[in-house]
Amino acid sequence: MADELFCDLHMHSTASDGTDPPQALGALAKATGVQAIALTDHDTTAGLVDCANGCREAGVEFVPGIEVSADPGPLADHPDDGSPVLRRGTLHILGLFVRHDDPLLLQISQQMKDARDTRNPAIVERLREQGIDIQYEEVESLARRQGTRVIGRPHIGQVLIDKGVVNDMSTAFKQFIGQGGSAYVRRDRLPPQHAIDSIHHAGGLAVLAHPVQLHYASLNELERIIGRLREMGLDGIETHHSDHNPEQIDHFSDIAQHMDLLTSGGSDYHGSRKPVKLGQCRVPYEKCAALQSAANR
Ligand code: AMP
Ligand code: ZN
Ligand code: FE
Ligand code: FE
Repeated sequence: MADELFCDLHMHSTASDGTDPPQALGALAKATGVQAIALTDHDTTAGLVDCANGCREAGVEFVPGIEVSADPGPLADHPDDGSPVLRRGTLHILGLFVRHDDPLLLQISQQMKDARDTRNPAIVERLREQGIDIQYEEVESLARRQGTRVIGRPHIGQVLIDKGVVNDMSTAFKQFIGQGGSAYVRRDRLPPQHAIDSIHHAGGLAVLAHPVQLHYASLNELERIIGRLREMGLDGIETHHSDHNPEQIDHFSDIAQHMDLLTSGGSDYHGSRKPVKLGQCRVPYEKCAALQSAANR
């Protein structure tokens, strides 16, 4: 249908680990035929003002967002021993319609930046112990060239690729810097309750990002996890995402419906860092409109 409208409520810019500057995303969305976008950089709102300006110029609706990294441990069936499943999984909580200058959000951004700044050199040290010729200054200089404000593992991975140590990012994560990799170092993450409360404090809706990345053992376990997040104040779940197949989209939509949660969706576009394209998930624009009216309540 030619008159169908789409939105894309999950993407990254150079303010975190994307490769497009935030002010360029509006024009790209326009060219792709996307009506509304949310910028959801990892643990930072630093790109939101520039992205809003770019969207205004391009005539694209803008949703100010953030993607907060949280610790899945407290959601385990037995939080004391921590289920192995939830220790392996990733818990990202999107904040949509947040105020970019909320003091509590700025505070957790600083806390998460400090956690990465402590962990990153430790990863590089472990790589050096394994005989890889890499200096932390090389990672910093790559990040500077890209205009990045928050340095993360993808930047370390890019240096490993540039040096010919690995051929691609997914090998860099699998072999070295991802969980289970030989140079993996865990960093501090926020308790989920703190992440949700901070998003609410900033006037935003808290949405579980890419549920599939929780690496739940069964759909029953996923429902228990979402139930616990809902008790903590979760507002919605991301049904459409580039990692979700059509069955998963249907299943997550069913869960949202019977748990009375909102639904969201987005590509998780990272620029040239990943093969995903902006707008590729064809998220119906109605989702954005429904989220907008819930955020206004
Ligand atoms: P950090 O937040 O610094 O720990 O880096 C995590 C980021 O690395 C994630 O947000 C993803 O963008 C990226 N990432 C995580 N796992 C992978 C993977 N297996 N392959 C490629 N990129 C990944
Ligand atoms: Zn990322
Ligand atoms: Fe994520
Ligand atoms: Fe993301």
